[in-house]
Amino acid sequence: METFTRPTAGIDYPRNLKEFDLWFANEAACRSYIFRVRWPEGYECFRCRSKAPPWITSRGYLHCRECGGEISITAGTVFERTRTPLRIWFQAIWLVTSQKHGVSALGLQRVLGLGSYQTAWTWLHKLRRAMVRPGRERLHGLVEVDETYVGGASTGGKRGRGTDNKEIVVIAVEMLRPKGFGRVRMHRVPDVSGDSLVPFICDVAEPGTEILTDGWGGYNSLTKHSYMHSRTVLSDGGDPAHVAMPGVHRIAALLKRWLLGIHQGAVSGKHLDYYLDEFTFRFNRRTSTSRGMLFYRLVQQAVATASVPYRQLVDGNHKI
Ligand SMILES: [Zn+2]
Repeated sequence: METFTRPTAGIDYPRNLKEFDLWFANEAACRSYIFRVRWPEGYECFRCRSKAPPWITSRGYLHCRECGGEISITAGTVFERTRTPLRIWFQAIWLVTSQKHGVSALGLQRVLGLGSYQTAWTWLHKLRRAMVRPGRERLHGLVEVDETYVGGASTGGKRGRGTDNKEIVVIAVEMLRPKGFGRVRMHRVPDVSGDSLVPFICDVAEPGTEILTDGWGGYNSLTKHSYMHSRTVLSDGGDPAHVAMPGVHRIAALLKRWLLGIHQGAVSGKHLDYYLDEFTFRFNRRTSTSRGMLFYRLVQQAVATASVPYRQLVDGNHKI
């Protein structure tokens, strides 16, 4: 699992909805929480480097006691310049993380009574951008890799021949011994050439990792990139129930079910990457005993993620 310091239930994050309501009753409480999560080692004034604890003003600024320098507590976070109370944002994050499979834009709009679908949609996309932790550890050990097709009708046909409404997603999953899964990584690729598949693997897996693939030629250059490469080749026309990469096959089935269940499968190409990020965030924390822990992690990442304007959200433009 992706953990660094280990926060404690009831101290670092609320254990349940009742505690959540008590903790985040007003804006000042939410700001204090952001301050604490954002500067766990203590704040240092951006101007005079003073480490004296700053005032938190009623407008949400940190005011240096030494030099008077002020900075918005939400500057450089997902919440920057928001006109909505932080309390509502926190409720959204709680909802997103406390539901096992998350929440749709329509669901979020209804539960929080947001003015428009667009607002709910925008918020979820902003939060998805916070779901990938920069500099996260790469996969290692034994990793299965394969591609799957998302969206559109299942027409079969030759590998890599996508239709207009079908997206190719490459999935990598750590295989534990004797059984079980570790972490996953996934990404949308334009085609199944080596130029698309191998850079993804280099990005997500440590050199030296044993990569399991089927016989597809797109993976041929893996050994040149310092990976151990094992292939499982199935004969053409074999039993369709028998798949070469059972781990990826299982993850792909979960992904498709999640996209259909929560989002009615209505995910267009350019946005799909962010849904993949959300799925990955959830999957890699699936064994977390407390949903509150996920709330904590998402707030932690939200305060480290600059806000993205609506126009840019609509345009997509995901970086690997
Ligand atoms: Zn100062």
